[in-house]
Amino acid sequence: MARYDYDLFVIGAGSGGVRAARFAAAAGARVAICEESRVGGTCVIRGCIPKKLLVYAAHYRDDFEDARAYGWDSHLPTFSWPQLIANKDREIDRLNGIYIGLLKNSGVELLHGRGVLADAHTVQVDGKSYTAETILIATGSWPVVPPIPGGDGCMTSNEALELPDLPRRMLIVGGGYIAVEFAGVFANLGVEVSMAVRGEELLNGFDDDIRIELARAMRDQGVTIHTRTQLESIARSDAGITARTQMGQDIDVDTVLYATGRKALTKNMGLAEAGVELHEDGTVAVDELSRSSVSNIYAIGDCTDRMNLTPVALHEAMCFVQTVFRDNPTKPVYADVPTAVFSTPAIGTVGLTEAQARKTFGRVDVYKSRFRPLKHTLTGRQEFTLMKLLVEPKSDRVVGLHMIGADAAEIVQGFAVAIRCGATKAQFDATIGIHPSSAEEFVTMRTKEPEPVQEAAD
Ligand code: NDP
Repeated sequence: MARYDYDLFVIGAGSGGVRAARFAAAAGARVAICEESRVGGTCVIRGCIPKKLLVYAAHYRDDFEDARAYGWDSHLPTFSWPQLIANKDREIDRLNGIYIGLLKNSGVELLHGRGVLADAHTVQVDGKSYTAETILIATGSWPVVPPIPGGDGCMTSNEALELPDLPRRMLIVGGGYIAVEFAGVFANLGVEVSMAVRGEELLNGFDDDIRIELARAMRDQGVTIHTRTQLESIARSDAGITARTQMGQDIDVDTVLYATGRKALTKNMGLAEAGVELHEDGTVAVDELSRSSVSNIYAIGDCTDRMNLTPVALHEAMCFVQTVFRDNPTKPVYADVPTAVFSTPAIGTVGLTEAQARKTFGRVDVYKSRFRPLKHTLTGRQEFTLMKLLVEPKSDRVVGLHMIGADAAEIVQGFAVAIRCGATKAQFDATIGIHPSSAEEFVTMRTKEPEPVQEAAD
């Protein structure tokens, strides 16, 4: 008789947990997974997918306007936010059903309820105990609103995806992925959007040229960006909401959306009691094979805060299955992970930023192209695309590729394969472009940017 009820018990049925459960079952393991909310997790239920549907909705505004330049007698049709949200919810229900079906068809037992560790081999769900040889923590993360007077009633991305009506004025706090994506969506849907960003620029960690270009484009769309700005308090009255900055400026809006980061969901689930070491911020401490301080307990995805992206959680899940159920210890690889921000315009990026490349290699050759896409020669829209290549001169390898402009995510995904394969600038140059396209710029950049002027020594 088996020593444990299951070979694997997964806590959390988001992208990473579901992937690990299914592929472990395919390797012959007896697997259970528990979920306290809806199967699908952040990405499917309240993140990437619903957000991208809203991004599509918002882009129609420009498309209707641009169509006139192409001979369409187009008038801006009326827009119904409740209709969009209802359609989005229907699609999320469908995907939720697909995820449940995937688990069922893989032979994984799905338990509804919160999983709490009773010991290193026992998980309790709704008062019932289940034992397992291996336990995988894949509980994800949740948005956090920093403590601030009046901050309690503010929205996060969770509520923004469920708003019953569009507000007239919105303040978005933060300048990261979620802040800029939602700013683009709501501004395009006609909301007066302002942003409070504590740094100098949006999107800390991205290439500086891309960050500057995004801020320029967003300001052109009418988004007000308050940089070096932190809120001190939020007060509500019949007239709306007044957000007071630490500099004493009042920003009057109808709603405030906090997008200031997310926190690992690891509280009150018996982890520390079972001996699982947590970092100060609540994330699970794991080694290179995603193993926690308890040898049979592993963790993947946002709750480990290594690189909080759905495809990375899927990758970590696959490596975990290889390691534990295929007898093939496999470390997740975090180099050259492409990523996109579905801002307006979108950003796609892979490899190092210019600052990182200079720090790593000393010298770096920079190629840049900024242009108005062909489409907008007729529309007159002042929307620019910026593309940038970073080349390590000794090896000629392309070590960074960045783009802001239409279809950036679609374009950069393909180039990410080349970068992953170690493509050189000479190989980029030898590749024939697809004409006319924006993407061809990446293989036709011939002129290096001048070296930055060195600061004179004192
Ligand atoms: P991010 O970490 O990307 O950005 C948080 C923002 O809030 C930063 O601008 C940060 O400033 C600011 N901030 C943090 N704390 C405070 C504070 N106390 N007061 C004021 N501002 C503050 O988090 P997000 O919530 O935007 O997204 C979470 C993660 O989800 C991302 O890191 C990403 O991994 C993932 N994600 C990916 C997406 C995609 O792939 N397209 C889409 C959405 C999310 P500073 O920069 O100065 O620290």
